[in-house]
Amino acid sequence: MPQQMSQQMPTQRLVLASTNAGKLKEFQALLGDLGVETFPMPAELEVEETGSTFAENARLKASTVARATRCWALADDSGLEVMALGGAPGVYSARYAPTDRARIERLIRELALAEREAQGAGGEAGRRARFVAALALANPHGAVELEVEGVCEGWILEAPRGDGGFGYDPVFWIENMGQTFAEMDTDTKARWSHRGRALAALKPGLKELLPEWRWMN
Ligand code: IMP
Repeated sequence: MPQQMSQQMPTQRLVLASTNAGKLKEFQALLGDLGVETFPMPAELEVEETGSTFAENARLKASTVARATRCWALADDSGLEVMALGGAPGVYSARYAPTDRARIERLIRELALAEREAQGAGGEAGRRARFVAALALANPHGAVELEVEGVCEGWILEAPRGDGGFGYDPVFWIENMGQTFAEMDTDTKARWSHRGRALAALKPGLKELLPEWRWMN
């Protein structure tokens, strides 16, 4: 690139509208090939997740963080939907209990309870579940320019397996792989995961926006 041109072009910066270390690590790996500089949202900035869907919360986080930082912002609102629990914990996945460990313990407990109740009624509760990730990209004025959703189907185990990943990864088992998310390496999880799929859907639009973005940042 001619020197004069590179001096005119500011670096493309993207703020990741999250403080979740697990999500940030995955995003940095997933966005590595785009040549944008990513950084986490300021820790002191709090966004209340008042939406009733993943998509609403993702939009809320992206535009609030974009406006506060005056940068392009990418937000992820994600969670686990367990069929036998009527879709819980869903949008409340992060608020289900205070720590990852406590969240997993509660999930296992509630699912065992649902199984006992279903057996008492002569049925079967089932352990089918899905992870959902809604992504929203907002421009520095806070307007949402792109939105996508990614889903990954799996099963909830009776006990955790593996020590990688974050959140509910140790109990989320993918039948085709015979592994939980916590037993997969980062690349394999990225290929299968709700977040990896959502980002694959977002990338073409993101690439189209990049030239415009240089001048808006
Ligand atoms: P939020 O999107 O900040 O509301 O939080 C989503 C919550 O869902 C996280 O804190 C995790 O508990 C859970 N979650 C989302 N994605 C994943 C994942 O890839 N693995 C495990 N847990 C996840």
